[in-house]
Amino acid sequence: MPTTFSAQPPVLSFDVIIIGSGIGGLVSATQLAAKGAKVLVLERYIIPGGSAGYFEREGYRFDVGASMIFGFGTQGTTNLLTKALDAVNVSLETIPDPVQIHYHLPQGLDMKAHQNYENFLQELMAYFPHERQGIRSFYDECWKVFNCLNRMELLSLEEPGYLTRAFFQHPLACLGLAKYLPQNAGDVARRYISDRQLLKFIDMECYCWSVVPADMTPMINAGMVFSDRHYGGVNYPKGGVGQIAQKLVEGLEKAGGQIQYQARVTKILTENNRAVGVQLANGKVYLAKRIVSNSTRWDTFEKLLPAENMPNSEKKWQQRYQKSPSFLSLHLGVKAEVLPSGTECHHILLEDWKQMEATMGTIFVSIPTLLDPNLAPAGYHIIHTFTPSWIADWQSLSSSEYENKKEEVAGQIIKRLERIFPGLDAALDYMEVGTPRTHRRFLGRADGTYGPIPRLKLRGLLGMPFNSTAISGLYCVGDSTFPGQGLNAVAFSGFACAHRVAVDLGF
Ligand SMILES: Cc1cc2nc3c(=O)[nH]c(=O)nc-3n(C[C@H](O)[C@H](O)[C@H](O)COP(=O)(O)OP(=O)(O)OC[C@H]3O[C@@H](n4cnc5c(N)ncnc54)[C@H](O)[C@@H]3O)c2cc1C
Repeated sequence: MPTTFSAQPPVLSFDVIIIGSGIGGLVSATQLAAKGAKVLVLERYIIPGGSAGYFEREGYRFDVGASMIFGFGTQGTTNLLTKALDAVNVSLETIPDPVQIHYHLPQGLDMKAHQNYENFLQELMAYFPHERQGIRSFYDECWKVFNCLNRMELLSLEEPGYLTRAFFQHPLACLGLAKYLPQNAGDVARRYISDRQLLKFIDMECYCWSVVPADMTPMINAGMVFSDRHYGGVNYPKGGVGQIAQKLVEGLEKAGGQIQYQARVTKILTENNRAVGVQLANGKVYLAKRIVSNSTRWDTFEKLLPAENMPNSEKKWQQRYQKSPSFLSLHLGVKAEVLPSGTECHHILLEDWKQMEATMGTIFVSIPTLLDPNLAPAGYHIIHTFTPSWIADWQSLSSSEYENKKEEVAGQIIKRLERIFPGLDAALDYMEVGTPRTHRRFLGRADGTYGPIPRLKLRGLLGMPFNSTAISGLYCVGDSTFPGQGLNAVAFSGFACAHRVAVDLGF
């Protein structure tokens, strides 16, 4: 059944409407506006950015999610955030982070993923001297993937003209990528490495951004992360992660695009199985030649479109991918003296390998004020710490049960963090706890999920959909499209989506 127009007559018509201003949506919007398309972004919240947004409390400016940012390098083709800002004539100052992660892992494995590749390898090899060769071979193979990606312009892999051009310009790189596309990082690691603890470490290296172990992590994504951290590096935007979206909006508007906040899309309107517009919660209707959803696939195909008409391709996708857990987040303001000198910005804490994927198993920590002190009052730091948590554990609670549970689990996390930051509890100045319910409410993501994860071992990235969908005129962008979660990954999705839409519209 087509979704019929209702309520009020259409007010305006656009080339492209983008539902949501996450980084995927904004990169798509800015790219299209820069090409001359008439673009409207509709955002349900009061500011842009989604999981890369921010909030301010008592002199602290907290990142709501992402803090470890790839894609701000200056060379090659994989620095997609730099490129996205450049395309609309805006820029951001960034602060380089010399260490991607300081790992605090079981069996005394305490090491740093340095920006310098050799320093990283030497530190790992010192723990596993019998695996020196295997370590180098595995990480060198990740570079092969990265070098293929970093040679060509990254656009839509579902646009035949681009694929042909890319193949003739970079035949070896294309063949290399085709070889790695169906592979997972765990299979490649086991070709070179047999030490079980080292393989666990590689699981954690993948898990901390893909939220699945190495066996289920596509080699393309692993190649990107494990090499780009040494190439473009991890760089923090001055003023906080929220600046990325703010700058993209500035660029969008300069390029003639528009954005509306507090504009929640409740329906994608279709005619003869073709998306033709959207309807907002206030009843307003907007029409466009193309609709792009930056909402998750679950929200797009179960809420914005009638779930009972879900296309078969989406049903199949849901059989292959499931929602990852959400997070329990603690946003802390702490006295500066609690952090020993030389503390790194990002940490991972795990006490027992068996708990890596468990609820509240792995603890993630970011302390962005070590890079940009202006995000907190003088003499204080921000600690954003988060750990996997399922929405089911937070449903059906009375408001007092909910508050008590938040306090109880926050206490457990802080107690565990005392191991790396002794005196943390006593140094607390501010604390705000976000649960999966908070993520669902403020980020507009089904069950507050971090994004899609394979239900079982798949063939690398082959199962991840590109941007076009089974509904003509409707595209998806963001972390439920190729190549998945992370700001640089959704920026890739944004470039690819804009390219596909622009070709379809003849721009
Ligand atoms: C706790 C946490 C930590 C993370 N850490 C990192 C990290 O360190 N590094 C990294 O690279 N990545 C990290 N990520 C992942 C990264 O933030 C996400 O993968 C990425 O930001 C997702 O971008 P997106 O474009 O898919 O959309 P989202 O960020 O999901 O944005 C979608 C936008 O669409 C809006 N929207 C949704 N539905 C509607 C509707 N119906 N109408 C109007 N608007 C709508 C939402 O309000 C939102 O603004 C982290 C994520 C979380 C949650």
